[in-house]
Amino acid sequence: MRILLIEDDRMIGEALCVALRDAAYAVDWVLDGETGSGALSDIQYQAVLLDLGLPRRSGLEVLRKLRASGSAAPVIIVTARDTVEDRIQGLDFGADDYLVKPFDIKEMLARLRAVIRRQDGHATPVLSNGIVSLDPATHEARHDGAVYTLSAREFALLHALLSRPGSILSRSELEDRIYGWNEEIESNAIDFLIHGIRKKLGPRIIKNLRGVGWMVARPQ
Ligand code: CA
Repeated sequence: MRILLIEDDRMIGEALCVALRDAAYAVDWVLDGETGSGALSDIQYQAVLLDLGLPRRSGLEVLRKLRASGSAAPVIIVTARDTVEDRIQGLDFGADDYLVKPFDIKEMLARLRAVIRRQDGHATPVLSNGIVSLDPATHEARHDGAVYTLSAREFALLHALLSRPGSILSRSELEDRIYGWNEEIESNAIDFLIHGIRKKLGPRIIKNLRGVGWMVARPQ
């Protein structure tokens, strides 16, 4: 899951990047509103964390432009502005949630999981296709009554596939969801992750359509 973080405070930005990467998100971090709008027009993010007080373009302006472009990407406003009017304005401009600084990182991650599952069309927290299930809160996968712990990237890959069971995701679609801007991607990185997941959960969990991509079965 790839997240755009638009935050001009370096200390907060660095802390959020560390927490998000620990939670298996790929994070692109930009420090001003204009660069944020540019990134949003180039890349499809699973969610956006948006500060309001930003140089070069305000957070509300970034949000207004994003919604005007027709994007439904989930946006959580993360700001020190805590008046009721600020919250109402942020939500009415098209934000999905609103967190006031300082906040607990664990709460931010829970809110992020909530907006992402809604975006993917799920109300229940655990993703499942009836064969394998995945809990975004714990990163545990279950199959045939056993529980498996996945690495951060294995989790991110299986999450991408289980969010759309029955749909084929290409190598580049998977790479876009698992890696951020500054990360080197080895040409066989996706194969390596698939191999790791199959080794734990069994070879038939993920199907490969040669030259096209990978998928997990649709629920029966
Ligand atoms: Ca700021």
